[in-house]
Amino acid sequence: MSDSCILCQAPLKYLESPKMMRCEICGRSFEGHAVCENGHYVCDECHASPAEGVVRSVVLASTSKNPLEIAEQIMASSFVHMHGPEHHFIVGASLLCAYSNTYG
Ligand SMILES: [Zn+2]
Ligand SMILES: [Zn+2]
Repeated sequence: MSDSCILCQAPLKYLESPKMMRCEICGRSFEGHAVCENGHYVCDECHASPAEGVVRSVVLASTSKNPLEIAEQIMASSFVHMHGPEHHFIVGASLLCAYSNTYG
């Protein structure tokens, strides 16, 4: 299973070395390493923004004391993309949520 473009759903191609590309959503240029078959590049920030909302709503609603369970609940959302940069803050959010649900 591979990731797909959030704009056109075409499969993503991973480049061997990063190159400067212009984000289709915000128009800023970044060094990227993945582009879809139709040439769309979406920067990490734009790629992650719907996922940030998912992380926020899951951790605010969760009463779980198990960080793995919380992370899996977040990753089950279709806004959280396989290999997406959002995984970097899912770890921290899940651990903090479990800590807060355990110790208050
Ligand atoms: Zn595309
Ligand atoms: Zn962008």
